[in-house]
Amino acid sequence: PAYFIVFFIISPLISIVGKLSPWTNPLPPEIFSLDIANKLRVDLDAIKTASTDFGNLVHVTPAAVLRPSSINDIVDLIKFSHSHSVPFGVAARGHGHSSRGQAMADNGVVVDMSSLNNNGGCDGIRVSWSPALGFYADVGGEKLWIDVLSDTLEHGLAPVSWTDYLYLSVGGTLSNAGISGQSFRYGPQISNVHEMDIITGEYNVDIHRFWLVTSLSHLGDLLGTGELVTCSKQWNSELFFAVLGGLGQFGIITRARIVLDKAPNRVKWVRLLYSDFSTFTRDQEKLISTTALEYLEGSLIMQQSPPNNWRSSFFSLSDQSRIASLLSQHGIIYCLEVVKYYEHLSIDTVDEELQVLLQGLNFLPGLMFKKDVPFVDFLNRVRSGELKLQSKGLWDVPHPWLNLLVPKSHIMDFNEAVFVNIIHRQNKTTGPILVYPTTGKKWDDRMSAVIPDEDTFYCVGFLRSTGFNDWEVLDDQNKEILQVCEKSGIKMKQYLPHYKTKEGWMNHFGSKWNTFQDRKSQFDPKMILSPGQGIFNSV
Ligand code: FAD
Repeated sequence: PAYFIVFFIISPLISIVGKLSPWTNPLPPEIFSLDIANKLRVDLDAIKTASTDFGNLVHVTPAAVLRPSSINDIVDLIKFSHSHSVPFGVAARGHGHSSRGQAMADNGVVVDMSSLNNNGGCDGIRVSWSPALGFYADVGGEKLWIDVLSDTLEHGLAPVSWTDYLYLSVGGTLSNAGISGQSFRYGPQISNVHEMDIITGEYNVDIHRFWLVTSLSHLGDLLGTGELVTCSKQWNSELFFAVLGGLGQFGIITRARIVLDKAPNRVKWVRLLYSDFSTFTRDQEKLISTTALEYLEGSLIMQQSPPNNWRSSFFSLSDQSRIASLLSQHGIIYCLEVVKYYEHLSIDTVDEELQVLLQGLNFLPGLMFKKDVPFVDFLNRVRSGELKLQSKGLWDVPHPWLNLLVPKSHIMDFNEAVFVNIIHRQNKTTGPILVYPTTGKKWDDRMSAVIPDEDTFYCVGFLRSTGFNDWEVLDDQNKEILQVCEKSGIKMKQYLPHYKTKEGWMNHFGSKWNTFQDRKSQFDPKMILSPGQGIFNSV
């Protein structure tokens, strides 16, 4: 009993008190006399928020949370960590929507990027045009995509590449890829960035270009650690490509210049149902080979994964009962989802165009469902489901998510081995399962992001949630899926990757591993940044 009292009651208290007091804090004490000291939070609320994320599976406690009011505050923090004999970890936290503690920093400092929002960042969202780039927006790395959407729409413009959910930060999705149904046509979000400002762990600027643009007096400012560097494909390109899909390892994105295009007013949104996976994927691949649509995704419908879910409520009650009877016949129904953008003025022609496009497809007869909604409602389709779950206390539950990129040549094997033999047979599904093809041709191989080695690959998302006591059941099933892929030679890549060993990371990056490591030694040699990814601190 004594052991029990010390371990379960007293030790958490000691740990909390330690966090509350700068004097027992694991950070070097001098940090509390720097100019940023009054922006460092060590109170329980701040620490608790920074110790959790959307996944709700991993809880790691930082020593402090920095709430920067300017980009310089972050520069100062990184410089300070760097100057110390034992540097501490620094993790940017965009919106904390990772699943496995990726934005956490054990005994280090979490930078709450959202506190830059009040103009402490890159001055909000600025829309511009140039002959070389067309329309673009300069956007703070801390901004949420929903805010980028509403600000750019005021100019009749919008980004071209999205994620399914918009309450994610620009820095957070660019550190991964930013994939959605638009990716086949426009590429992922990381393929739609012209330029970025990055605070690196360490950097020597591209000296040849540097001489062209600046005076000698700035040289001292620009060499060394924790610097703000502007980069693009032409300018400090190694850093530019490193950061895109770089899992936060090389620098903190404080500004990104995002590609914009004219925004449509409305969209035609169509879902088609299939009972045969091969026909379903053949039609998906046929549709992404054209540029007639702006968006294509797909999902599984099963008893445990109903047609309407938090990602979108699409089917009427009578549609749902039709689908229920199909399910009792087929077990799994595959749902193909497409969207065509249009302007008010082209309302007469859009239906005809869609009809022509969908004519040769082989969905189940009569099982086509259509909607016509405003562009914004379509892009922000997940929000209403989120709010409903929040009101029931079901949003902040464990999310053992698994996202995979499966090469086209293995998608039939994947269907049999995983969807049929594991997911359907074991009947544990509690959430949406996505499956849709996209093209690797829109991904620049110099970026850090890793994809399968085939022109076409499928994005597969197991977006499941559970109660607090049973998430391990689904997590075990995730492990089984990974093992089955390995055993069957299905050469998939994890998206939003998570590995516990160095070997796992080396396999993940494959031929890119050496470059990834070299870039780490170049831009963050003391391995300060985003320790929560567990890449350079794994065993
Ligand atoms: P965080 O969780 O805060 O951070 C993620 C990583 O990026 C951390 O390592 C962090 O240190 C680093 N980071 C954060 N900000 C910066 C910065 N400014 N500079 C450098 N590094 C930084 N992904 C898709 O691609 N497509 C989807 O459709 C999609 N839908 C999603 C829906 C939901 C409901 C959720 C929860 C996630 C979804 N995701 C999707 C995954 C999401 O894109 C990633 O988890 C993303 O990292 C979340 O952004 P965030 O701002 O919350 O990042």
